[in-house]
Amino acid sequence: MRAVQYRTPGKGPELVTLPDPEPGPGQVLLKVTAAGICHSDLTLMDAEPGTLSFGLPVTLGHEATGVVEALGPGTGPGADGGWPAVGDAVAVYGAWGCGACRACAEGRENYCPYAPAQGIHPPGLGAPGALAEYLLVDHTRHLVALGGLDPVRAAPLTDAGLTPYHAIRASRHKLPPGSTAVVIGVGGLGHLAVQILRALTPARIVALDLTGERLALARNAGAHHTLVADDGARAALDELTGGQGPDAVYDLVASPETTALAAAVTAADGYIALLGIGRGSVPVAFGATRPGVTVTAPYWGTRQDLLDVFALAREGRVTTLTETFTLEQAPLAYERLRDGTVLGRAVVVL
Ligand code: NAD
Ligand code: ZN
Repeated sequence: MRAVQYRTPGKGPELVTLPDPEPGPGQVLLKVTAAGICHSDLTLMDAEPGTLSFGLPVTLGHEATGVVEALGPGTGPGADGGWPAVGDAVAVYGAWGCGACRACAEGRENYCPYAPAQGIHPPGLGAPGALAEYLLVDHTRHLVALGGLDPVRAAPLTDAGLTPYHAIRASRHKLPPGSTAVVIGVGGLGHLAVQILRALTPARIVALDLTGERLALARNAGAHHTLVADDGARAALDELTGGQGPDAVYDLVASPETTALAAAVTAADGYIALLGIGRGSVPVAFGATRPGVTVTAPYWGTRQDLLDVFALAREGRVTTLTETFTLEQAPLAYERLRDGTVLGRAVVVL
């Protein structure tokens, strides 16, 4: 099969030919329909050699939809009767855990403490990923029925939708009527974060990004206000909130600049979620922020969160803006993401 791999440090992703995978016991083989291109893949490919928790090469792609092609030996139909079956349209819940611990039992496999030590990695982030014609899924519990959703728009929901949903769901108590939420970075995650805030909370939403095109996307997604993320942003946020600051900040960049802004502006008893992997941080210490601010750096989301995101998508309240590429064009899609010229999410359609 054709696949796109990250093989050599310092070199970009490469199109290669690999043997077609066969599903082993308990596994499910998917024919991939669509795979999202995430900024985290750039971070992975930029990592210093030897700092990754898994070996190279790795087939990229951790946002996947597909059609069940084959079930491995002993992969019985699901408890709810005959699901998944060959031909079913599914999405992949990618935060694979050990499946046995408390976190996994609760569907919070994104916080499984045992997965790394057991060599369990998400597809595309250690295990072979979805930028390939076929994808092996290790267990039926990592599949979610698409239920009529468009597979191209749905693929990014499994990460670019799920990650902000997880953070917003956990902090929605900070966003009653009259409150203000800030989204920093209106890219793949950010344009979905704005829609999820609209769907889950009555908060006034202020979105920050660097270009007018992205601020226009934020307004289309439902942001009430947009601001250029420059030196004037802090004063503008103060003015918009009567000097009190926003009640929650979702930082999808998390660079030293954006985290400094989040630390400076967030309201007392507010909430800062650092979702970006931008090497910034917010100190937790008396006086480092206004009092009582919660600072968290969550990872991905739970299986239940993914079901919730899909429900919102079915209701038409969350829609991914996509730009599509072929598998051969995946290296170009990564280049475009790095250049900042993808609006919404780049999705490879197989
Ligand atoms: P993206 O490239 O699609 O979007 C990033 C956006 O941020 C762009 O619109 C860009 O213009 C904007 N931006 C860059 N610098 C900015 C600044 N200083 N101020 C304001 N806006 C700025 O990226 P993405 O795929 O949406 O990913 C966003 C981040 O989330 C990445 O760091 C990614 O690695 C991370 N991520 C984290 C998790 C997690 O589990 N925590 C999951 C997925 C992605
Ligand atoms: Zn991702």
